[in-house]
Amino acid sequence: MPAQNTEILLGKLTRREFRERMNSGELQAAILPVAAIEQHLEHMAMEHDWRSVNVVAAEVARRLAPRVLVAQGLMAGISEHHMRHPGTLSLRPGSFLAVVSDLIESLARAGFKNILVLNGHGGNVAPCEGTWGQFQQYNEINLHFVSYWDTIDHNEARKAMRTPDVPGHAQEFETAIALAAFPENVRTAMWADQPDQAPSLSTAATGERLLELCFAGVERYVRGMLDGTRVAEIPPFMP
Ligand SMILES: [Zn+2]
Repeated sequence: MPAQNTEILLGKLTRREFRERMNSGELQAAILPVAAIEQHLEHMAMEHDWRSVNVVAAEVARRLAPRVLVAQGLMAGISEHHMRHPGTLSLRPGSFLAVVSDLIESLARAGFKNILVLNGHGGNVAPCEGTWGQFQQYNEINLHFVSYWDTIDHNEARKAMRTPDVPGHAQEFETAIALAAFPENVRTAMWADQPDQAPSLSTAATGERLLELCFAGVERYVRGMLDGTRVAEIPPFMP
């Protein structure tokens, strides 16, 4: 009898491991992170949104192991508003939504009845919210979309911060999280080279507190999906 497989990343499983865990009823939810690869001012690496949402998704899956898998599907997002800064990778809204819906459908066909699309980039919010009801009607499962910062009390976050923007763009919230979780992405020497000085107030200690709030917030969200208290309201079909 092999030791229990507690891998949390879908892509790390073999087809046999996935099949056995799904067929046993152990796998109850999938988290599909979506994000952006886009400019984050002069001081942060462009992968920030993708990296941060995966840190949150992975920790939540670990806390809820072995019931939850993270399906790392789509790094890039809708970032037209950042395209004046070369290096940003942007998907048109239709392209983004087409890929997200294909990934959701793949997970639903694999047997997941609970799917959370966990978002790490503000530009993805409006297009997803505008089409979510149709994705729910198409799949008829407990399908949710939430940005990880919307699972936390913003006033609670501000207590740990020196500036008020939650989450902001490459401001204290995001910079502190990077300093705590992947500090190699922050060029503190560049802080002086940009007009915006708010990021320079960030510390790793603040980031650890913010991450703890985000872990707890998303964990609560997914727990609700697992225990049946957070049920997606599928918009009514025409009679
Ligand atoms: Zn960002």
